[in-house]
Amino acid sequence: MAAKRGPRVRPGVLDIAPYVPGTSALPGAHPVIKLSSNETPFGPSPRALEAYHAAASSLSRYPDGSARSLREAIAKLYGLDAGRIVCGAGSDEVLNLLAGAYLGPGDEAIYSEHGFLVYRIAILARGATPVVAPETDLTANVDAILARVSPATRLVFIANPNNPTGTYLAFDEVKRLRAGLPDDVLLVLDAAYAEYVRKNDYETGIELVATTDNTVMTRTFSKIYGLAYLRLGWAYCPTEIADALNRIRGPFNVSGPAIAAGVAALADQAWVERAVEHNEVWRSRMTEALAAIGIGVTPSAANFLLLHFPKGNGRSAPEADRFLHERRIILRRVGEYGLPDALRMTIGSEEENRAVIGALTSFMRGNGAARS
Ligand SMILES: *Cc1c(COP(=O)(O)O)cnc(C)c1O
Repeated sequence: MAAKRGPRVRPGVLDIAPYVPGTSALPGAHPVIKLSSNETPFGPSPRALEAYHAAASSLSRYPDGSARSLREAIAKLYGLDAGRIVCGAGSDEVLNLLAGAYLGPGDEAIYSEHGFLVYRIAILARGATPVVAPETDLTANVDAILARVSPATRLVFIANPNNPTGTYLAFDEVKRLRAGLPDDVLLVLDAAYAEYVRKNDYETGIELVATTDNTVMTRTFSKIYGLAYLRLGWAYCPTEIADALNRIRGPFNVSGPAIAAGVAALADQAWVERAVEHNEVWRSRMTEALAAIGIGVTPSAANFLLLHFPKGNGRSAPEADRFLHERRIILRRVGEYGLPDALRMTIGSEEENRAVIGALTSFMRGNGAARS
């Protein structure tokens, strides 16, 4: 038989399990409570919306390919060098650019056991080999990561706090990780949930980026800024790394409306503050309320909780998920993260949170319609 003709996909690509986003809709017309993708219940700042609408008058123009106004606004807010900021269509793009610039066939990249799955995809897409470091108590373990470094290791991805666990590494641990990694290994600190963290021992990583030439921090407008639909993220990098990313990114990778909305969103820090306060209150209320009905919750530093269900007995995570769907509530299944007995719940509005507690109380008591 003749060999198969036609384009040959690169090694690694067909090993990728396509990313499964959180469920976003259910059959039927009734509204749903969607707490599956860690979106903010407040939506974007009205100022960001206004800037977005205003951008509609310029849709025929190419955007500023360097996103200068946005980089300058970010630099001003955080006290950074705008020349070392690279923006992308979501931090997903930035993470993929980093993999594209630093990984190829034969290289290894490390992420932790329950780490964000976009890393695995980005690694495999470059033909590189993912290496998974086990966690301790659902938290990244610095020693386990360091133990998996080999001469082929080129990059380490850490989400801090991590999704879907909500756990975080104290800055001392992040520094210990950096110090233990070889100088030619790039450390990527994905701080997508940084704004939500209120811990004295937490740092986003800006200081490490400033003081080393092999660490990058990534951030997003998708979470606390409420602009997930628009796709906007950024990285703070050493100069040479910013230069590398700028060479391989699309010349107009961030849209004009995204740049405009991002600048306006940054100018409304009161909006961010309100979302943080709400999250503080409801993260602890929900943690307590869930514990009171027998659902274990991993302590979270972010805007979501990992809920642990008993195995079997009609109270399992898949059964809880079905039960909630019948009540039009969507949480996130996390089986593909190695957590088949858990569901991830975004902290929602007061009304949404109360609806979840009400439904899960019925579920755990076993007086719901969906029992089988
Ligand atoms: C949501 C999330 C992001 C953000 O992705 P975007 O592409 O910016 O929307 C990045 N990292 C982690 C760990 C996340 O959970």
